[in-house]
Amino acid sequence: MSASRHPALFATDPELASFVAAEENLQAETLRLIPSENYVSAAVLEASGTVLQNKYSEGYPGRRYYEGQQNIDKVEALAVERAKGLFGVDHANVQPYSGSPANLAVYLAFAEPGDTVMGMALPMGGHLTHGWGVSATGSWFRGVQYGVRPETGLIDYDAVRELALTERPKIIFCGGTALPRTIDFAAFASIAEEAGSVLVADVAHIAGLIAGGAHPSPAGHVDVISTTTHKTLRGPRGAMLMCREEHAKAIDKAVFPGLQGGPHNQTTAGIAVALHEAAQPAFTAYAHAVVANAKALAEALLARGFDLVSGGTDNHLILMDLTSRDVPGKVAAKALDRAGIVVNYNTVPFDPRKPFDPSGIRIGTPSLTSRGLGVGQMGQVAEWIARAVEAAAKSDEAALATIRAEVASLLSTYPAPGLPLS
Ligand SMILES: *Cc1c(COP(=O)(O)O)cnc(C)c1O
Repeated sequence: MSASRHPALFATDPELASFVAAEENLQAETLRLIPSENYVSAAVLEASGTVLQNKYSEGYPGRRYYEGQQNIDKVEALAVERAKGLFGVDHANVQPYSGSPANLAVYLAFAEPGDTVMGMALPMGGHLTHGWGVSATGSWFRGVQYGVRPETGLIDYDAVRELALTERPKIIFCGGTALPRTIDFAAFASIAEEAGSVLVADVAHIAGLIAGGAHPSPAGHVDVISTTTHKTLRGPRGAMLMCREEHAKAIDKAVFPGLQGGPHNQTTAGIAVALHEAAQPAFTAYAHAVVANAKALAEALLARGFDLVSGGTDNHLILMDLTSRDVPGKVAAKALDRAGIVVNYNTVPFDPRKPFDPSGIRIGTPSLTSRGLGVGQMGQVAEWIARAVEAAAKSDEAALATIRAEVASLLSTYPAPGLPLS
């Protein structure tokens, strides 16, 4: 099927084309539960694969270091205007290559090497780039970390305040990669104000929920909003930095020439299309459905006796603690993969196991929601997960193969955006 879908690619490089075709099949036939993944629309895919790729555009619209920008300037200006409108911000920079470089630009704009910065600890659900030790941000800066309360799995705002007032960090990051609960941006804002820190909301995971009105917005509370564009926001792989007017110059200078060269114009085009889609009523419905599905899936998992960090979810993401099942996260994740259910193993807060072999798995509902699955199917999804975890404990490969066939059969009636009908 993909020979006709990518004819030039098949003619030129059949080996590579066969890998792409296999990936298309994989994404069509498996239940993709990795919460940072999604399916972009065919329109976003097309925009991201255009001849805009061929153009060098260092600088910003109207202020470039290369000629021939009459079309590129319009593309980038459109993406910027759409980002500002959708998120209600003064300023947007759509050039960061991805979420990690976007965050590096924030450091460049507001801190000097050696300065203290504060973020959520990686094993608690934070991101590497929030000052964690193995990241450049944790070796070039002095990272101090907050976490969640052991009893509730919720962010300990009293401890955040205490740490901020003791350490007076230059930058405070809120947001993370494994946070199943609503972030209280107002609480972080009052702490940052007291501590004299620049507050950054890294909403990489939840940007689509914010755009669709299914999570409160950090706009008006924080100095800078950092986000990827490819998670719940359902755009191409990229990132944006948004801020109040007072920080616009610092942010732009940090991205270019501070950190990057030419922007990826084909990605900018894809971001513009994704932002247009995210402003439509259908996207609002999608964002609320993502959350409704996650809550229904969490309920169904709890009913099957699973332990969930914080006891459930407010957003798109569920962190399952498999300690009581005697199946480590990695073993469960690999078994689920063989059963056609794609998740990632993940540390849980206060995990006694190692990050490369942790106690939990992280799942989420953006991808299945983009395919049109609804709350009515979440019981079935929970049942598959329970059966697969049980099969993992018994090394029952036949049971995993049965689940894989059942998953593919259900999904064949829910075509994924951007993929050929198989
Ligand atoms: C995904 C993510 C990032 C990093 O994005 P990349 O595009 O993978 O570099 C940064 N911060 C948070 C909170 C994320 O979830």
